Amino acid sequence: MKAAFSWTRGLPTAGTIAGVPGTPEAGGRLGPFATTIFAEMTALAVATGSINLGQGFPDTDGPQEIADAAVAAIRSGANQYPPGAGIPRLRQAIAGHQRRCYGLTVDPEGGVLVTTGATEAIAAALIGLCEPGDEVVMFEPFYDSYVASAAMAGAVPRMVRLHAPDWRWDPADLEAALSPRTRMVLLNTPHNPTGKVFAPDELAVVARACIERDLVCVTDEVYEHLVYDGAHVPMATVPGMAERTVTLSSAGKTFSFTGWKIGWATGPRELVARVRAAKQFLTFASGTPFQHAVAAGLEAGDRLVAPLRQSLQDRRDLFCDGLEALGLAVSRPAATYFATTDVASIGEVDAYDFCRALPGRCGVVAVPSSVFYLDPGPARTLVRWAFCKRPEALVEALERLGSAAAA
Ligand code: PMP
Ligand code: GLN
Repeated sequence: MKAAFSWTRGLPTAGTIAGVPGTPEAGGRLGPFATTIFAEMTALAVATGSINLGQGFPDTDGPQEIADAAVAAIRSGANQYPPGAGIPRLRQAIAGHQRRCYGLTVDPEGGVLVTTGATEAIAAALIGLCEPGDEVVMFEPFYDSYVASAAMAGAVPRMVRLHAPDWRWDPADLEAALSPRTRMVLLNTPHNPTGKVFAPDELAVVARACIERDLVCVTDEVYEHLVYDGAHVPMATVPGMAERTVTLSSAGKTFSFTGWKIGWATGPRELVARVRAAKQFLTFASGTPFQHAVAAGLEAGDRLVAPLRQSLQDRRDLFCDGLEALGLAVSRPAATYFATTDVASIGEVDAYDFCRALPGRCGVVAVPSSVFYLDPGPARTLVRWAFCKRPEALVEALERLGSAAAA
């Protein structure tokens, strides 16, 4: 497996990836983003036949009735371009979901945009809502596409650090990250990679900054239904925020169909219009039959999601208990698919080196959380493990890790 470029080392000044054997050069401002950590680590898992606890996708399908709805949509001829903003039934279902779950009113005509996964929604939000040179405040560690999408938009990321192991942050760091050029706060709750659920008092601090400085908040809430401890509070429900917040979510995580790539943005019409303007020229529209199936899933309410959430919570506990039994310092996530360990607790000094060597040592793949930082500093020994896999796979992975530790 060829070495891949660690784009964190190239930021914030982009360049090429010269000097990395076998890696094609990608110059310009996207030079540092040649290969995502997920592509790298999944390729490593395939090449070595390892258990893939790197990329966050379930190794089983979501609910059969949603899959059946996709098949039925294909057979019924729902196979040509849908409206660019999404089929009316799905836009209604998304608006209904926001109302039912959170009491939020969004207009299914102008206030909902269906996207090709949350990934496209993130890119379209940054491109549509930021001008080149605008600054975007985000929390570090950050989901990998945030900084790449900011680069595509010509926007400049500014970081507020979440501190391990409990992922608290200092409001003074938010104040320091803000400037007259700040245009947006890009929030992610529940948060990948840490599994943190932002508490109401934390949201209030972010909200106050947005309101005082007239900022837009884009909030990535793709794990909204995968919360095990505490409760998810959408930023749009915080007083004064609905009118300045674009909320992003995705069917991939909620229903375990990550490959379908149906996501959405909701919010005030004038903000969503700008996201839509960008989306039109990224993909124009998103997979018609999957939109029908996701609408059916959302219309089912919590019936299909609740068992999945419970099963993921059980797997979180199984896996975190197992990691702790191996002597690893574990940060047990309140939500999401991911647990974090500090491999300094087993004498490791660099998470990237650890993750590159792990498949060869014991046939398990994980992701170094250090890549989710511009400069990881003390986070250079953090490793992210995806536990959204079958219990048998998790048990086998723990056994393999145990034998590697004993060797
Ligand atoms: N945001 C976060 C925080 C994620 O973890 C992911 C991965 N699901 C995405 C966005 C991308 O979502 P999608 O697969 O729907 O593009
Ligand atoms: N969201 C997934 C994760 O964090 C990865 C999605 C992707 O590969 N881009 O693992």
